[in-house]
Amino acid sequence: MPPDLRPSLPSPLTPLPDPRFDDHGVQLLLKRDDLIHPDLPGNKWRKLSLNLRAAEGRPLLTFGGAYSNHLRATAAAGRLLGVPTVGVVRGDELAGKPLNPSLAQCAADGMRLRFVSRADYRRRADPAYLSELLTPFPEAYVIPEGGSNALAAQGCTELGRELHGGTDVAAVACGTGGTLAGLAAGLAPGQRALGVPVLKGGFLEEEVVRLQSEAFGGRRGEWSLAEDFHWGGYARTPPELLAFAEDFETRHGVPVERIYVAKLLHALVELTARGAFPPGTRLTAVVTGRP
Ligand SMILES: *Cc1c(COP(=O)(O)O)cnc(C)c1O
Repeated sequence: MPPDLRPSLPSPLTPLPDPRFDDHGVQLLLKRDDLIHPDLPGNKWRKLSLNLRAAEGRPLLTFGGAYSNHLRATAAAGRLLGVPTVGVVRGDELAGKPLNPSLAQCAADGMRLRFVSRADYRRRADPAYLSELLTPFPEAYVIPEGGSNALAAQGCTELGRELHGGTDVAAVACGTGGTLAGLAAGLAPGQRALGVPVLKGGFLEEEVVRLQSEAFGGRRGEWSLAEDFHWGGYARTPPELLAFAEDFETRHGVPVERIYVAKLLHALVELTARGAFPPGTRLTAVVTGRP
């Protein structure tokens, strides 16, 4: 791994006094994965590292939406490794328009952006369509949407191992579920993982089982999902959620990423108020990214 890609691991685990937890006998801790790497923050470094090794210096081709943190991390990895990257972006209505800050950063890192219609995007696993996408770099290493595959899940087991002895419940916000799949597999017996999906749809349980089967040969670890904390779906951030995030930042001086981490922290406050965690629980929130 070139020096510029080296991570700062293990990430810090810090207790955070907060009456919304303390009053219920629950100790909140933050696992600061947002501090792992300046350009590949959070779970993105953990998910990409084994894939980058497997790519062995080949170009990288991957998929994402217009605000995908995974696209940004892949573009940064390509720059640091000196390999070409292609980002297939969902939505051809974006083509020819000014790039949003996230895609502008991808482009600045040298990523070639290819905007495709939603219909084409859905065909991304179809071999015929994929070989068309691969035309500029037929030998490219393909990473699925959101970076979640078996190697990504395997890379995230280290997150679980870093928490051995330090927590009872490890909670993480979920997009594609790769981080939860690996986290749960890496925890010790007696520890459990809790995933908070930020997308609506209820498809995640099946997806995490699929990823664990591919990565580890079957379901691993003790984990469950807390549905109903998605606030209407991906990237929906109603004023009440934004106010919650701002208040959390003011109380604790910790930056709160709005699309995933805010929903996670809010869910944990809610669940604690409802008595979901018995007194004495050490509850860790994985800070998977930064604003
Ligand atoms: C990508 C991302 C996630 C979701 O990770 P999955 O492995 O896709 O579930 C969570 N938090 C942040 C900040 C992310 O960028």
